[in-house]
Amino acid sequence: MKIIGLLSAVLLCASASAQSAYDTFFTGKRLRIDFALSGNIDTQSAALVQLREEPVWGGPRKNLVDPFDYGGYEVKAFLKTDGKLVYSRGFNTLFEEWRVTDQAAKETQAWINSVVMPFPKDAITVVLLARNRRTNGKDTLASFEVDPASIFIDRGKLKDNPTVDIQTKGEPSEKVDLTFVAEGYTAAEKEKFYADARRFTDSLFVTPPYTGRREDFNVRAVFIESQESGTDFSGKGVFVNTALNSGFYTFGTDRYLTTPDMKSIRDAIWNVPTDAIFVLVNSKVYGGGGMYNFYAIGTADNARTINVFVHEFGHSFAGLADEYYESETSYNDFYNLKFEPWEPNITTLADFGSKWKSMVAAGTPVPTPPDGQYKDKVGAFEGGGYLAKGIYRPAVHCMMKDLTPFCPVCRNAILRMIDFLADRD
Ligand SMILES: [Zn+2]
Repeated sequence: MKIIGLLSAVLLCASASAQSAYDTFFTGKRLRIDFALSGNIDTQSAALVQLREEPVWGGPRKNLVDPFDYGGYEVKAFLKTDGKLVYSRGFNTLFEEWRVTDQAAKETQAWINSVVMPFPKDAITVVLLARNRRTNGKDTLASFEVDPASIFIDRGKLKDNPTVDIQTKGEPSEKVDLTFVAEGYTAAEKEKFYADARRFTDSLFVTPPYTGRREDFNVRAVFIESQESGTDFSGKGVFVNTALNSGFYTFGTDRYLTTPDMKSIRDAIWNVPTDAIFVLVNSKVYGGGGMYNFYAIGTADNARTINVFVHEFGHSFAGLADEYYESETSYNDFYNLKFEPWEPNITTLADFGSKWKSMVAAGTPVPTPPDGQYKDKVGAFEGGGYLAKGIYRPAVHCMMKDLTPFCPVCRNAILRMIDFLADRD
């Protein structure tokens, strides 16, 4: 009993000091950093666009330094006084995907992106880094000082969009805050949006491993009115006037639905605590997209809508890679096979021990033959990450390959992310 008492006293201390670390360095508000990424297939650079102080930081308060190292980019914040790292988080952007398309070999573009972090009490240095495909290290793209008292930080209110609490299970800092944002819904379609968001929420929590974790999520639906219904099909010459400027034919692929307009998404949810964004598009056409810790997007009314939602949310929420390899998306050298990709559910076998090797049963060969006695086992099956050769996936079938149930490796990755965002130790 004494030992247990002592142990819980130690745990209490650890948790109290983590809590006070947050209170020492941050207010309860959110710092939003909008920045431009410009570049092409060879090079990229970043420039600050604007800083905003927004009402609520809904993310974890104990888990301030990222343990995952996912994403092509990372934001880090250091105290100006002593250089102490006080916050870090990896993320992806759609611009990163654009950089490996044929278009990026011919032209240079600039895209607006956005990241958020807790609002600092004292001056910090913010560093934006990008993973380098050739070296697998990280390059510093930008480094700038944020003085929390600066008159150059925009503290203004934006349009207060009607928001429905689909479910509230606790304090935002201790829950995963999932926000659905309306896209391509007119004023007359507001109730349809809320009904769609409720249907998506219910379907998420009947999908393993989210089943049993419903209590860890707050879910909100933010309605933003579009002038017209639907979304763009630029390849068919169809353009509609919508709030978040989404469209199919991303990078020329008909079913790839995204929006380059991260600023409008962030503006729409400026006063909503949010760990994960899903842009719900009012269309019945098959398609979607998702970038880690950025946003996921999908349509409301296709027959396979729910599976697409769960698949794309797997990208944006848990950093999962596509496990398929018959792809019409024309990426050039998306993965450098010399290194382990950062995603938890694919491997080049360059350092399999850092991935799911411990989940492969003794006697299962690696690489693993996809048929016969191993077809239902965890292994390393060749083909994944848009490549038939040189990249391996954990199971023959998975939600990230063919919209079947998540494989055990993806399930573990999702549960780890829920624990992180729900601020568990
Ligand atoms: Zn998987």
